[in-house]
Amino acid sequence: MSQTEHRRARPEVTVIIPVYNEEAGLNALFERLYPALDALHADYEVIFINDGSRDKSAALLAEQFRARPDTTRVILLNGNYGQHMAILAGFEQSRGDIVITLDADLQNPPEEIGKLVTKMREGFDYVGTIRIQRRDSLWRRKASRAMNRLRERITRIKMTDQGCMLRAYSRHIIDTINRCGEINTFIPALAYTFSQNPVEIEVAHEERFAGESKYSLYSLIRLNFDLVTGFSVVPLQWLSFIGVILSMGSAGLFVLLLIRRFIIGAEVQGVFTLFAITFFLLGVIIFALGLLGEYIGRIYQQVRARPRYLVQTILEQRNGETVAGMPRQTVVQAVQPAPIIDQGPTP
Ligand code: UDP
Ligand code: MG
Repeated sequence: MSQTEHRRARPEVTVIIPVYNEEAGLNALFERLYPALDALHADYEVIFINDGSRDKSAALLAEQFRARPDTTRVILLNGNYGQHMAILAGFEQSRGDIVITLDADLQNPPEEIGKLVTKMREGFDYVGTIRIQRRDSLWRRKASRAMNRLRERITRIKMTDQGCMLRAYSRHIIDTINRCGEINTFIPALAYTFSQNPVEIEVAHEERFAGESKYSLYSLIRLNFDLVTGFSVVPLQWLSFIGVILSMGSAGLFVLLLIRRFIIGAEVQGVFTLFAITFFLLGVIIFALGLLGEYIGRIYQQVRARPRYLVQTILEQRNGETVAGMPRQTVVQAVQPAPIIDQGPTP
């Protein structure tokens, strides 16, 4: 095996970047990312995952692949599966000992990758990040902080700043994640549950270079809801707890009304109060049903066991040749010589 082939087989660092409609910022990303990685003096590979972009992102990625085929691979998914599924697709193709995830919009400065690599080389297996000066709108910061606190209390996953995707994971964590078949997941949290020696460092944060955030308030709430239900069953225990409290409360109220009946006599006050209480309880019940449904929906999705995403093409260089092939497994099967079995003439 030649030196270059050996290098390609197992780089030290893999950088994984999901891309969804980022045509406006991709060239700026390339211009900063590659020099930053060259400065590391480590063997590296960059894996871009095009998450079904409807703009020119895929073409730009293909162009970049042609410019740097030795260090670049591009996975084209056939639809939009979401940021985390895209990253999982990248994990499956990654070969590095240190795997780093990064956003394509330059909110995570590529120059910070060096800090993460240094920490990983010190022996940590998970490097989380805290954005020093978060460049997002005020409401977004406040909303994130509130959700963060709630999520931490429920799931016991310690992440000071869950929203920052610039993170590093060791090979053993990536291999374990690759063995999980979860449909809805949040990668930093999943990785945290498998880490033995995690650490958090501070990194800079910038405004989005171009384009708009792909997350609306609704999808942010959904993500956090997913995070809680995906990593904990504590909400179900809370439901039982709420049920017990409500039963005790209404038992108390019944006793109180009974005593009043004997002291004051028949009374018809408080009809509207009763309505209010009833509607409140209806709300609690519907919420409880929704929450149960959430867990059942997860079970349903999981038992269907459909493929989580479909890879359309992978642009990569193999044995010095530039190829656009199907996913590795398929290609390997295709090039294996067919067993020669004499079955006689084909019908
Ligand atoms: N992204 C993706 N698929 C999606 C949504 C987003 O691959 O369905 C990518 C997007 O291109 C970016 C990263 O995920 O590289 C983070 O997205 P965004 O910047 O919109 O999120 P925010 O920074 O607002 O949390
Ligand atoms: Mg962003």
